[in-house]
Amino acid sequence: MTSSEHTGREAEIRARWNATTPGPWHVTVFDDVHAMNLVAVATVADTDASSEIIAATLVQAPRYVDVADGRWDENAEAIANAPSDIAYLLGQNALLEGQLAMAREIHKPETRYTPDDGETSYDTYADAAEISKITDIAPTQFEVCEHCGSIEMDAGATEYRDSLWPCDTARALGLGEGATGE
Ligand SMILES: [Zn+2]
Repeated sequence: MTSSEHTGREAEIRARWNATTPGPWHVTVFDDVHAMNLVAVATVADTDASSEIIAATLVQAPRYVDVADGRWDENAEAIANAPSDIAYLLGQNALLEGQLAMAREIHKPETRYTPDDGETSYDTYADAAEISKITDIAPTQFEVCEHCGSIEMDAGATEYRDSLWPCDTARALGLGEGATGE
């Protein structure tokens, strides 16, 4: 799933839930002579008003709603908690998306130009071309992780080895070969 498909799906989920009857929702059990054991989800706790019922998972008299596996209580519990559960997960998702975006912003590709097959490299093609006049090797380009590359060079490395793009972190973030960091 691409990130735009993911965003679209998330917007659909939000729209669907924003359109529902406002919560909180409660599991409610009717136990009178008319309903017998009726398990429902309602906008008011312990209600017996049909106008406050969102969904019923068991209607015994007459037997309209009665799933064969008998999980009326569990199903009602899941439905009643769905609005707050979904809201929680959307919140968590937004938090994680934010953290991933920050990591992607830090670990992004940077193009380097080399006039000697990678022994030295420069920020620009023009700088590498100057040296090419001496080495007689046409400048070529390669990509490194901007962040990991600066760590590697600060540690005293003279050429990029461990920080070639995609770095391990970029790979873990799903930014593979050929990715442009978008
Ligand atoms: Zn990196």
